[in-house]
Amino acid sequence: MENIYGKTKEDLEQFFIANNDKKFRATQVIEGLYKQRVSDFNSINNISNNAKELLLNNFSIEKLKIITKQSDKDVWKYLFELSDGEKIEAVVMNHDYGLSMCVSTQVGCNMGCSFCESGRLKRVRNLETHEMVLQLLTIEEDLDKRISSVVLMGIGEPLDNYDNVIKFIKILNEHKGIDIGIRHITISTCGIVPKIEKLMNEDMQVNLAISLHAPNDSLRKQIMPIANAYDITLLMDTVKKYIDKTSRRVTFEYVMLSGVNDTEECAIELGNLLKGVNGYVNLIPYNKTSSKYEKSNTYTINKFYDILKKMRINVTVRREFGSKVDAACGQLRSKY
Ligand code: SF4
Repeated sequence: MENIYGKTKEDLEQFFIANNDKKFRATQVIEGLYKQRVSDFNSINNISNNAKELLLNNFSIEKLKIITKQSDKDVWKYLFELSDGEKIEAVVMNHDYGLSMCVSTQVGCNMGCSFCESGRLKRVRNLETHEMVLQLLTIEEDLDKRISSVVLMGIGEPLDNYDNVIKFIKILNEHKGIDIGIRHITISTCGIVPKIEKLMNEDMQVNLAISLHAPNDSLRKQIMPIANAYDITLLMDTVKKYIDKTSRRVTFEYVMLSGVNDTEECAIELGNLLKGVNGYVNLIPYNKTSSKYEKSNTYTINKFYDILKKMRINVTVRREFGSKVDAACGQLRSKY
């Protein structure tokens, strides 16, 4: 039986029409699930017994199980068990603008970025749409708080699970349901060019974050195998097309690895690469995992930042969260 939380409003409209019921029933169900937050179909307000029967006979309403939760100041990290026993993580961070959540999109990841803990555990399978939706609902229920922005930057490469991710975003964005604004949703990718092309034609103004992490191909290939498939010139040309098409500013994620990609030369090369591009660089202090890399020191990060600033590149340094909570994605799952 399919899980109801993987269904968009359009899916449910088609379902009710196909079952000789009314199209508007879908909106009532969506409101029941996401506004009323029912835990069984019988509790949904205003729908007929016949509609309840249809739901009961066709969908499950099963939630995720929290295996463990860690918290530190302004950060919570969850490990969930899926119905087949696989485990995934999600992280919530408290910012001045509200709670943001980092969602996993796959069980493991095949992209093999050498600094990433998630990449050490190969992809077992894609997450189903409902398994992404339920990360958010379960955490909101546990914290008794609403999440205001979502970043698809947990375990997995979102564009490698394209169709389920697009459905997930539609469900997040549904006005009658969870209702998170599209500009508060960010897809982070290591740079799968054909999927970025596809995304720009979705007519969805979702934010795009590119895990760049190096200013040239030779360095990028050392740390990110995806660079062997799509070189940096092609990637940047595609990103520029994305910006033109969607009018959205793109984020370039850049994890600072001591002695690897944090030199002054790298900063200058990065500044030149991004000159005139409508985006900004997010410098990420590395969260030490079991990899061979070390975190850049504060002096080096600040120097890198200053060089980019002088070159008139928009740049921020990501606030550090969660050294006490195994916050690098994949760390908690690795332990289990
Ligand atoms: S950084 Fe992202 S794309 Fe790369 S291995 Fe980790 S989860 Fe996969």
